[in-house]
Amino acid sequence: MNNNTPDTPPYGETTRAIHAGQEPDAAFGALATPIYQTASFAYDSVEQAIARSVHLEEGYNYTRVANPTIDALEHKLADLDGAEECIAFASGMGAIAGTFLGLCGSGDHVICGVNIYGATQGLLTTVLQRWNLQVTFVDAREPSNIARAIGPDTRLIYLESPSNPSLQLVDLVAVAQLAHDRGIISVIDNTFAGSSNQQPLKHGIDVVIYSATKYISGHGDTLGGAVLGNAHQLRRIRQAQILVGATISPFNAFLLLRGLQTLPLRMRQHNANAMAVARWLQANPAVPETIYPGLESHPQHELAKTQMSGFGGVVCFDMGNDDAARAVQNATKLITIASSLGDVKSLISQPVHLSHRYLTPEERKFAGVTPGLVRLSVGLEDVEDIIADLDGAIGS
Ligand code: PLP
Repeated sequence: MNNNTPDTPPYGETTRAIHAGQEPDAAFGALATPIYQTASFAYDSVEQAIARSVHLEEGYNYTRVANPTIDALEHKLADLDGAEECIAFASGMGAIAGTFLGLCGSGDHVICGVNIYGATQGLLTTVLQRWNLQVTFVDAREPSNIARAIGPDTRLIYLESPSNPSLQLVDLVAVAQLAHDRGIISVIDNTFAGSSNQQPLKHGIDVVIYSATKYISGHGDTLGGAVLGNAHQLRRIRQAQILVGATISPFNAFLLLRGLQTLPLRMRQHNANAMAVARWLQANPAVPETIYPGLESHPQHELAKTQMSGFGGVVCFDMGNDDAARAVQNATKLITIASSLGDVKSLISQPVHLSHRYLTPEERKFAGVTPGLVRLSVGLEDVEDIIADLDGAIGS
């Protein structure tokens, strides 16, 4: 199935997740895309070497630049997000760093949502600050805060929606409009929602980023990242990736291709399990606060309904203080304490001690990362078992 062929029927998402980007292999007809585990590709002649590497004619040279297994992954990811192009990276942080390195230069100004993954915040305030990238963090739930932060050097607006960890949303249409009107590039880290639940490019956002380590892999067995957008935007990001060497390995690309084939099915179940868990937590008097965009009580639930088709697999709850949050995690038996999310297994963590530990107390306060906040990545176990585990740990 070639998604670029004009007469391709309008296949559904689940069909495309299975077929897009993956033709039987030309050499032996292997149905699963082979792992082209090679650093370089042989040329027939010096002329062919020059044609491919200097004149960029079709064919492969070197895996840091391009590889057939990685190409298949990039095609499938682009298809699922409705993107012109995709660049697969070695990790989500590789994708984020490659985006800033490709699109920004010294002295440029970036506006960033304050509630974002801790390492992204760290990248901006340490490594990229040494390269003189200027950053303003804003509460991005209100587009006027973004508008007010725009200055003459603003090059890029970088946001997460839903955000890590507090599941805050950003009005994608409003941000895209704001950015386009002023010639600024808008970037959304769509890791928490995933392409099944939210398609930021369709709302006018320029560039979408994923930590493929999460839902795209789905099985917690590989790191990966991706950047999606139009070919023009991605040209300089591709150049940054190749020159920095943040290319994904063919083996990890194979694992992500395998995971992607069940992404829509998995996301449907993650959404359903998370909703049931969120409702159970919300009804539990021992839990002071439950945060999930699918709950009517979420302050941005109406916005969520307009830009998300499902609300994702992460549910947060605030136990009020550090001790209570620790006690819940230490008491779970089925749910595992771990840093990641998007796995088939349910994973629980306390952002203050893990994903957001590098932030200063002031930064955590501004970002709304409270000591009692618990992040639960609801997995694909039978939901009754997940709830029974929480019941044993929290009580009611
Ligand atoms: N973006 C978000 C929203 C994340 O939660 C993470 C990791 O937790 C990353 C990016 C970084 O991804 P990776 O760990 O694959 O580098």
